[in-house]
Amino acid sequence: MPVLVCISVPFAGTFLPALYTARFFKQKFGDSVFVCIGGGFVNTELREAKDPALAKYIDAISYDRGYASYKALLSTVVEPVETTSSSLYKMRLFKKQGGKIEVTEPIWQDSDFEKYENQMTVKIIPDYSDIDFSAYPKMCDDRNAMHRIWTDGSWLKAYLAHGCYWHKCAFCDTSLDYVCGYKLTDISPLYEGLLKTAIEKGVYGIHFVDEALPPVALKKFALLNARAGNPLYFWGNVRFEKSFTKDLAAFLSYCGLGGVSAGIESATGTGLESINKGTDITSIAHACCAFKESGILVHAYMIYGFWNDTPQSIIDSMETLRQFFAAGLLDSAFWHKFVLTRNSTVYSQWEKDGTLDLVSGADTSSAFARNNLHFKGEEKFNKFGLPLDTALNSWMHGERLEQKIQKWFDFPVPSPTVPRDFIEKKIEEYEEKNQERAKSLNEKNAENLWWLGGNPVCSGKSEFRWLYLMEEQTAPAKQMDVEILLALRPEASEEERAAALKKITAAPAILSNLKKLMGRGLVLLDF
Ligand code: SF4
Repeated sequence: MPVLVCISVPFAGTFLPALYTARFFKQKFGDSVFVCIGGGFVNTELREAKDPALAKYIDAISYDRGYASYKALLSTVVEPVETTSSSLYKMRLFKKQGGKIEVTEPIWQDSDFEKYENQMTVKIIPDYSDIDFSAYPKMCDDRNAMHRIWTDGSWLKAYLAHGCYWHKCAFCDTSLDYVCGYKLTDISPLYEGLLKTAIEKGVYGIHFVDEALPPVALKKFALLNARAGNPLYFWGNVRFEKSFTKDLAAFLSYCGLGGVSAGIESATGTGLESINKGTDITSIAHACCAFKESGILVHAYMIYGFWNDTPQSIIDSMETLRQFFAAGLLDSAFWHKFVLTRNSTVYSQWEKDGTLDLVSGADTSSAFARNNLHFKGEEKFNKFGLPLDTALNSWMHGERLEQKIQKWFDFPVPSPTVPRDFIEKKIEEYEEKNQERAKSLNEKNAENLWWLGGNPVCSGKSEFRWLYLMEEQTAPAKQMDVEILLALRPEASEEERAAALKKITAAPAILSNLKKLMGRGLVLLDF
């Protein structure tokens, strides 16, 4: 029976090394290995790859999550795959038959396998038991703190949810399972499993590889971490949206969240609407304020060259980005050039409208990468790439933040229409919103109260002092019920918390004193 070798191909740059690896196994072990590739690049770009030449390297390609495709493959152990002619769920087979290569297409839909896939998605816990993390070099290629977390050290990779809970951005691969197949994992067993691995391996950092971490799941994971004494540090992709309030960001930071990355893509109101981002520039700015105020690193993904971009929209987006950096709301960012993909909403919309205008000779018949397409007019924004990157690189290192946008270009560009104090105004709105929010505590929402301040210490003058977000806070002793506050800390037990909440809702005077501590260590979450 052949040994199964699975090679993950997450990005284009790993495809060639994956083929070399596969060839090594084939040359060394011949038919005693069964080599299969899968992963992000495979799922997007190689969906239709069926060139028989691939059989020199691999025996099969697994698509999407893999749980059910491998179950289908392993079920053929009873009936060896070399002799079966039947198709497998989401697995393309390359079989040698009498000196020829026979390519067997996958079965793309099967309700039983889909059910199994969902069950596994909910309960799977990554297994790192055979990995020797000390064998991997730690690479530091930039002094930017956010950039360093990509390469400087090891992370246990996991996800809280498969797919994206929004899955509606016009430019995104919304018809593919990795985006549209949204399914939450079972957070408690996942936390326990990751903690066990962290202890065994001495690697306490978790990189969530979610398309977009769902705020509710993130809060649940964070709370479990706090109750375990905060052993884990974690970061991952989010969506910059309203849910990430100042209070939620402070809560997550308290419980181990160290960094977030998210797409702004087009930092203008109309741009965000046209790509159906599902959030607005105010919410994005406020979410960044919340994360940065709580000491969380923030990275933004930007895109230029959208189908409806103009020099003006790119300049406005760039100016807004400059203001984000000047205000200290971002640690890093990256400009991507827009790429039209076959599995995006905008592609299917253009096809439906009959407005699809691909560049003639576009490489749509490629045996390999078939997702990325070229449309007429896309090249006109190529010249923006270098100035956008150069400016961004300076801003990320705190340099030339006040330089006028036009000065980064060696060709004429319009002046930004964004006011110079646009983001400063958003920060003022954020401050005002938080002042108002502090008044919203009542006995109905008191169950969502949490104490994130330090241990209040009596200063001897009928006054208590504590630290919150690195600032010293004080309050008269008569307003402080320290026992209740400590029972509202995330690390307190369910029982302590329930008892404290019971006291709060039973006594209006306690609630009234707590209102005075809102935003000074006491936070109110929305869920
Ligand atoms: S771009 Fe991100 S937020 Fe938008 S649909 Fe895709 S995964 Fe979701």
